[in-house]
Amino acid sequence: MKITFLGTGTSQGIPIIGSNHPVCLSNNPKDKRLRVSVLIEWDEYKYVIDCGPDFRQQMLRENISKIDGIIFTHEHSDHVAGLDDIRALCYRNGCMNIYAHERVIKSIKKRFDYIFNTENKYPGAPDVFVNIIKNKPFMLPKMEVVPIDGDHYFVQVFGFRFRDFAYLTDMKKVNANEIEKLKGVKVLVINALRITPHISHFNLEEALDFIKQVQPKKAYLTHISHLMGFHDEVEKELPKNVYLAYDGLKLTI
Ligand SMILES: [Zn+2]
Ligand SMILES: [Zn+2]
Repeated sequence: MKITFLGTGTSQGIPIIGSNHPVCLSNNPKDKRLRVSVLIEWDEYKYVIDCGPDFRQQMLRENISKIDGIIFTHEHSDHVAGLDDIRALCYRNGCMNIYAHERVIKSIKKRFDYIFNTENKYPGAPDVFVNIIKNKPFMLPKMEVVPIDGDHYFVQVFGFRFRDFAYLTDMKKVNANEIEKLKGVKVLVINALRITPHISHFNLEEALDFIKQVQPKKAYLTHISHLMGFHDEVEKELPKNVYLAYDGLKLTI
């Protein structure tokens, strides 16, 4: 299995428009973060988790011409706003499979109503095939995916386990029975927004505590705000086997 971090930034990305914060002004490529998304590849299959406003740029950067499906964590803009840009992939490869909680599909239908028009659908609009995710394992080709249910303040959010790899973002609370599903993962990705606490996201301390509970071999932090600090400085302070993810980072599991 191959993982590519398409984006590792929080909702506004880094740099933030108009910001003079030193992290936003940093020249280190690792301090430039597009909105969170990850590409997961196995055999001949490619899936992405989330499809935020930087989707087009991410597909171009990674030279991707085909995706077998998009799996959504939740309905916030930084995770769904790029859906219109699947058009190029639909023209090439036909209908795109999307996977999400029923509530998330409802929200996507509201935002992108023209995609779901059954009458007089504009010919250039994307084509999607909807797959509803419940909190139980589902199958992709040659892969079982286990949803991990969590709370993002008052919004339900799904993380996902693919064999030895798990990807969770926008979590603020995960119950013990859901953490149990992560036991034995080799690589865990978990959100860590910044140093100080936040109402709907793990801060660094909460993310590190979560990693301690799961005990993966390696953990990578994502959904990072400029307020976390400079990539290279923060990473020096992290416990052994915990890393900050960065855009373009690739892992083989
Ligand atoms: Zn988010
Ligand atoms: Zn969110």
